[in-house]
Amino acid sequence: MLSLKYLILMRIALFLLVLLGALPAFSQHSSDRRPPKLIVGIVVDQMRYDYLYRYYDKYGEGGFKRLLREGFSCENTRFNYMPTYTAPGHAAIYTGTTPSINGIISNEWWDPEWGKHRYVTTDTTVQTVGGEGTVGQHSPRVLLSSTITDELRLSNDGRSKVVGICLKDRGSILPAGHMPNACFWFDDKGGNWITSTYYQDSLQLPDWVKFFNARRLPDQYMAQPWTPKLPLDSMPESFKGWSYKKQLGKNSGFPYDLPGMLKSSGNYGAIRYTPYGNRLTTDFALEAIESMQLGADSYTDFLCLSYSSTDYCGHHFGVHAAETQDTYLRLDEDLARLLSTLDKKFGKNNVLVFLTADHGGAETPQHLHDLQFPAGVFRESAMEQRLDSVLASVYIQPGKFVHEVSNQQVWLDQESLSNAGIASSDAADMIIEYLKAQPGVYDAFSYDYAQILPAEFPFIAEIRRGLHPRRSGDVIFTLDPAWHADDKFFLTAGTTHGSPFAYDTHIPLLWYGWRVPQGESHAPVSITDIAPTLAAMLRIMEPNGTTGTVIREVMK
Ligand code: ZN
Ligand code: ZN
Repeated sequence: MLSLKYLILMRIALFLLVLLGALPAFSQHSSDRRPPKLIVGIVVDQMRYDYLYRYYDKYGEGGFKRLLREGFSCENTRFNYMPTYTAPGHAAIYTGTTPSINGIISNEWWDPEWGKHRYVTTDTTVQTVGGEGTVGQHSPRVLLSSTITDELRLSNDGRSKVVGICLKDRGSILPAGHMPNACFWFDDKGGNWITSTYYQDSLQLPDWVKFFNARRLPDQYMAQPWTPKLPLDSMPESFKGWSYKKQLGKNSGFPYDLPGMLKSSGNYGAIRYTPYGNRLTTDFALEAIESMQLGADSYTDFLCLSYSSTDYCGHHFGVHAAETQDTYLRLDEDLARLLSTLDKKFGKNNVLVFLTADHGGAETPQHLHDLQFPAGVFRESAMEQRLDSVLASVYIQPGKFVHEVSNQQVWLDQESLSNAGIASSDAADMIIEYLKAQPGVYDAFSYDYAQILPAEFPFIAEIRRGLHPRRSGDVIFTLDPAWHADDKFFLTAGTTHGSPFAYDTHIPLLWYGWRVPQGESHAPVSITDIAPTLAAMLRIMEPNGTTGTVIREVMK
């Protein structure tokens, strides 16, 4: 028979065992619930999926390669709407939904609500802070749905800090949402980071921004010519003797005379077209982490960082230019600097990083044309006048019946048409007939018809997700895959984007750090899945217009 003492000892031992067994499980559970100190969302403007691998051998170990090696790559991530431009791209990433819901139908459009052409974030009710004139008159008021950054701030009475940084106003403003702590973009004239009174009451920049601007880094970066990091003959990833590019300043190839450009133009705009625009963005982001004490307390902070120089270079030089490659190789150095700083400051497991793009970029149509492809440029910029004269000749009365042709849409002037006794639907039919006869046009239809076309109609889902009932045009047209519409930056040299085709929609999506496993997946992912995935990771509500779904593979 066992003694009572022995039984008591057994029970104590059993209790301790249970306790010991339970402890690790409990502590693991609680550490899983501990949120990251900082999230850094990186958008690389115009980064096509293939740039991850085309330039892979030339990247260093600490940037893109590190994200691929230690993080998780969603290899099959796509935009699910058109037009694929910067403002809709940044909005889709952070709102988890498409222009049809968030209202960001393009960078610029005819705004029926305003009765005039609008630039996406223009807001004349706010004032420029840190610069002169209208350069700072921007706000996110045009954005109809909440962002993941808004939801983070709403989840804890604004204890999480949110900051937006990008050379482009729209790349900073849309990601940071409606209630960030700060939002900054670049003023070419002064060479300074600036903001607007939407974000602060004072007409003075915060002291740390003033100090940063006073360092005059743009002057330093533009004090010497831009030369390539690697000898050109060691870059078979780019085309030798590539001529489908624009001049930058007086130069049509390396070295680019940046001091000369600064002197002759009297402003810092040219830095955008060089890798140093991204370098300056990284410098400023690192200063923001330090000065705004991002990641310093137990509430998760969010830095929305967007690199624009890749887009300016892409537009200017094209997708096969050594200049574009050089810009990526130097962005890779910036990413390495950013990641190693985050490591030292917070430790890899306390920071969550994701990297993606706001759209891709097309093969230069003229290049494809010269290679015998059925490629071309559709002169959209000439269409407004052309369509007015088509309607004038049909109805035998001159008039201004078309407000605007842009984004492969036509906005009709309903008032002029009605004054002239022309039914809007008849005018739309005439325009559709004319457009369908133009080279490169695949099809044209009215806004209403777009809503009832069968699901099998090519890219109709992408077209519909890009249309907003109160904002979009009356007629929509689409182009062949090797055709592109011109715009104020693009005609024959360099490139552009905006289509629903793979070169504009297939982009990288890399996750790294807090709770992210190592690996890759080829399962289809939509750009609108990023925001709800972040919400699931943080256990907060997804943005209010979310149509995307959670990417389960990226969570440990
Ligand atoms: Zn862009
Ligand atoms: Zn662009």
